Amino acid sequence: MVSFALKHPTATIARGIENLVMARADSKSLTVKVGYQILATTISVTVFPIFLGIELFFKRIPIALRSISLSGKKVNSDGGLTPFQKNLDKVAKFAFGIIFSPFGLRWVDSISGFFLKRHHTTTGIYPFGVEGIYGKTVSPIQYPNTIEELQNLVKNAIKRNQQISVIGAGMSQGTQTIPEKADHLVIHTQFLKQIEIDENNNTATIGSGATWEQVQQALNQKGKSSIVKQASDPFSIGGSISINCHGWAHEYGSISSVVKSLRIINDKGELVTLTPKDEQFGCMFGTLGWFGIVVDVTFKIRDNVHLVEKSERVELQDFDRVYKDKIKGKGIPLFGGRLCLDALKGNPLRYVEMDRFEEDEKVDLKFKAIPLVTPNLFLEEESGTRMQRISLQATAHFTYFTVSRLLSNFWKRESDKMHQKTKMTLNEALHPPINALKMLHHSNLHSQWLQEYFIKPENLPYFLRYLGAELKANGVKLINATIRPTPKDTISILPYAEQDRYAVVLCFNQYKTQKEIARTRRWIEKVNRQLIAQGDVYYQAYMPYATQEQFETCYGKERVQKMRDLKQKYDPQNRFGNGHTAKYFEKKCS
Ligand SMILES: Cc1cc2nc3c(=O)[nH]c(=O)nc-3n(C[C@H](O)[C@H](O)[C@H](O)COP(=O)(O)OP(=O)(O)OC[C@H]3O[C@@H](n4cnc5c(N)ncnc54)[C@H](O)[C@@H]3O)c2cc1C
Repeated sequence: MVSFALKHPTATIARGIENLVMARADSKSLTVKVGYQILATTISVTVFPIFLGIELFFKRIPIALRSISLSGKKVNSDGGLTPFQKNLDKVAKFAFGIIFSPFGLRWVDSISGFFLKRHHTTTGIYPFGVEGIYGKTVSPIQYPNTIEELQNLVKNAIKRNQQISVIGAGMSQGTQTIPEKADHLVIHTQFLKQIEIDENNNTATIGSGATWEQVQQALNQKGKSSIVKQASDPFSIGGSISINCHGWAHEYGSISSVVKSLRIINDKGELVTLTPKDEQFGCMFGTLGWFGIVVDVTFKIRDNVHLVEKSERVELQDFDRVYKDKIKGKGIPLFGGRLCLDALKGNPLRYVEMDRFEEDEKVDLKFKAIPLVTPNLFLEEESGTRMQRISLQATAHFTYFTVSRLLSNFWKRESDKMHQKTKMTLNEALHPPINALKMLHHSNLHSQWLQEYFIKPENLPYFLRYLGAELKANGVKLINATIRPTPKDTISILPYAEQDRYAVVLCFNQYKTQKEIARTRRWIEKVNRQLIAQGDVYYQAYMPYATQEQFETCYGKERVQKMRDLKQKYDPQNRFGNGHTAKYFEKKCS
């Protein structure tokens, strides 16, 4: 800790300011509140910029000068910035920090928030967006480099009778990656990331620790693309299998529909190949690592193609009909309904833009290269662009009054854009910017949370009206809201779509003081009660606010019991598990 403070003095002061802001917000005493406010503001506009200046002149500028490239290269081979450009960017960041530090008088941590750093150790787990809430200190996390190393770790855990939990990219917003006990074995798969592409058979075999961003880069080089993935890229393949992810590939639904085989390490430490013919295959989807560790996955891929974006605005009651009449079964690769974000002229979610990406028939033949490699599909900057980070900070700091006005404007521009027939490739459409969000991973105070509900078609209009009213009543700063068709899943033993459903996905800004978390928890629990009353399902990727009883009702008591029976068969010692499976999957003794 001391060495971290010496190495990153500005980050340490930024953390101090954030801690004071949180303590002020959570204190009940007016005197304490005023005291913390004065202290935090004073540090923010005096000590903090002084340290920014010291670090700028004695560290950032010398490092930038040392990294001047003599080769004159403007970009790296992966399209990213050169070391000099990165260092220059940091110099600019520190200079801007000093210039804008007076903002601290109005929004205490608005500038220092850009300089927060999380002190990563091999004993800390920080799930995304809930780092301080569910994060835990554990025995040193293990990072196997090979399948053999992974297998040995499992065999040793068996000898020691330790439970094993797994981390992929760590993006789940709950206890899905957190071991139940601190001395359990935690395995991080990030180095199991081999990628093999079989262009002739349109399949790819990918190590479970690879992220979609890495996979998409490799597929693009061969003019290929994945079929089912989340809407964005930072997730690991193992984490995607374990939650049974889905995205805009509306005809396919969950990822289980495109997987041809999996290799896993089972409860005996054996490497086993599973195909859809094996009973244990379906156990691996949507069960959050309860049935073993996914080593690699072979799934179907497709050609990268030219697309054109089109949209049509419809009322909520027409969504299902328009989808079935005009989009489903029409060979449209990507589709999602984007729900209205404007909360000024009514409740949010009150209508939908049917945003679809059709194959572009009008592409000039000479551009219709096969294979189609999207040029400039570069890795996104590690933490997004400066403008994206500033917008995020602004959303976090401005009041609901201001943010709802900004969002109303943003939504107008977004919906206009959807009608402009923008052209792009499939790989570009599957690679939206998201990395700016990672800035929030350093903060204990600001975050973006998600919620997701799987709704029967006939319940959709009422549920969206109900949800829109709740969001407005609770002043939720909604950043994004979509509807995604999720066709019936016959593969997973714990499907969220045991029949055709529509996923309603919300992303919103969350201020993580105790009071604001309690407020969010209240509306989430209220919406969950409504959801359950109407026979619908919530997604397991986020906060563990549902009770076990609610989980069982949502996913079906018989289905959950069947899953427990299969667990007895495939992992009777409960070798694999985590905080989430302990709370929801394990049967509690009555
Ligand atoms: C900003 C954001 C956007 C999102 N968008 C979408 C979306 O569009 N569609 C969607 O479906 N979901 C979405 N999600 C949810 C996301 O898909 C899940 O949280 C997913 O599990 C995260 O992947 P990960 O690699 O970070 O998994 P982790 O959080 O690391 O792990 C998730 C679970 O998988 C288990 N696991 C990980 N690797 C393995 C392995 N190799 N073997 C066995 N078990 C393993 C872990 O133990 C854990 O239980 C989103 C989440 C966020 C935060």
